[in-house]
Amino acid sequence: MTARMAGADGFPEVPPGEGPDVAGVGSGEDSDVAGVASGSGSAAAGGARLVVCAPLLPEAWAVRPGIGEGGEVRVSGYGAGRARRQGERLRQDTFGALVVAGTGGGLTDDLRPGDLVVASEVTDGTTTTACPSAPLLAGELRRAGLPVRTGPVVSVDRFRHGRERARLVHPGALAVDLESAWLAAAAGERPVAVIRAISDTPRRPLHSPAALASGLRALRSLRAAGPVLSRWAAAAGQRRLLLAGPRSFCAGVDRAIEIVEKVLDRQGPPVYVRKQIVHNTHVVADLERRGAVFVDELSEVPDGACVVFSAHGVSPAVRQEAARRGLNAVDATCPLVSKVHVEARRFAAEGYLVALIGHAGHEEVEGTLGEAPGAMALVETTDDVARLRPKDPGKVAYLMQTTLAVDEAEEVASVLRERFPAARAPGSDDICYATTNRQQAVRAVAAESDLVLVAGSANSSNSLRLVETAERAGVPAHLIDGPADIELGWLAGVSTVGISAGASAPPAVVGQIVAALAGLGPVEVNERVTTTESIHFSLPKEVRSP
Ligand code: SF4
Repeated sequence: MTARMAGADGFPEVPPGEGPDVAGVGSGEDSDVAGVASGSGSAAAGGARLVVCAPLLPEAWAVRPGIGEGGEVRVSGYGAGRARRQGERLRQDTFGALVVAGTGGGLTDDLRPGDLVVASEVTDGTTTTACPSAPLLAGELRRAGLPVRTGPVVSVDRFRHGRERARLVHPGALAVDLESAWLAAAAGERPVAVIRAISDTPRRPLHSPAALASGLRALRSLRAAGPVLSRWAAAAGQRRLLLAGPRSFCAGVDRAIEIVEKVLDRQGPPVYVRKQIVHNTHVVADLERRGAVFVDELSEVPDGACVVFSAHGVSPAVRQEAARRGLNAVDATCPLVSKVHVEARRFAAEGYLVALIGHAGHEEVEGTLGEAPGAMALVETTDDVARLRPKDPGKVAYLMQTTLAVDEAEEVASVLRERFPAARAPGSDDICYATTNRQQAVRAVAAESDLVLVAGSANSSNSLRLVETAERAGVPAHLIDGPADIELGWLAGVSTVGISAGASAPPAVVGQIVAALAGLGPVEVNERVTTTESIHFSLPKEVRSP
């Protein structure tokens, strides 16, 4: 066992195709490969028949318990030569999904023994096999509590160490092994995943005293990954993807991002932005990389600096504070939020109690309430309507947060109109065109889907409302920041997935979700467009081109 473990740790200097046979399996050309465990080899329930190739017996032993009866674990043999021969045989096999699982050498200093590298692609330098479902597998492994990285894996003909191995880092590879590229290529169009548990790293090389402990740690990680591999195969299959149209960025979000970009272009970093410019982690992270500094309060902005107000708007008190501090403020408030502010001021000036239908704590709501603090009341539910105590029941008006669920907001508004028949409504709908259109579109795809996925961040109100809209249509729906958030269990037995994205979610995220799902099997992608949008808002004068 110890001898075999040493072999599993890394890359003994063995010429291709002449490595020792895996003990217990046999020898010679025909016994490179053996079924170790195995079940019937029949298709996993609701998924594809899984074959797991583990180059060495200890690796096969490690993953076997988690694979169970739904898949087959094979010892595919150590080294490039065996991997090539096994790859040729695998091409003729009728498996539905292929996993290559084993230990591997880490190529970057931040990897530690026991870390799992899920390959985004695997290459031998000539042929590259993409593993598009890697984000799904990596996300599931992280939720299982395992340390996971996703990136390229490179397969080489012989053991590399020292500077030679370091050179492999240049293409961006995270891990190196002797087999994956040739085995994974055998999958062809079928779902394929490659997972390598790090057994040695640049800091803890194979010849270090800690090599045995590192190898054991890697095998423990492989063992823990086994059930997740099984779930990955169960989620594999052919699917239809229905894209809701419209989805993703609205005109207000486009404008807000462009404002920050233009300020960055004009004056260079840092550019301070009060609150998240829009509620999306990808947008915020991208702008941070480019020099935006997001702060919660103006007190964090140095005197005289430039500050951008987010798309959700600010109260007059914030504007006054910025002016008092001599800050160079650029306002990225969406014009449709500004419209609600204007209505609040107008109704309040005319002596109305202004009920704002919205969600407590949301930045847009805080900004709007700040327009007339003494004359406004937040109304979240119909119960809140019953608690309103206007001085003059004949002078009640109501407004809405722009990103509410249309049905729910209307329910509260109708109760308010019942209680105060003279209640003044906003001049035009406060719930904006983008919110309304995306809810209609997600309802349309939900009607044809078994599952709806909505791209958006957890603090995005309009994205959350899309999830609720789909759920109200009777379909399980989930908010995801990206493909890594998709739980594999959601997909088992699901043949049609509806996909939408909140107004603050970048279109690229939808592309990533589609690509990841396509890694689980053939997909037919259709779009259901309920309306098209052509709205564009002009930029504030501070950033308009001269
Ligand atoms: S969701 Fe509506 S209100 Fe919010 S930024 Fe987009 S267009 Fe403006």
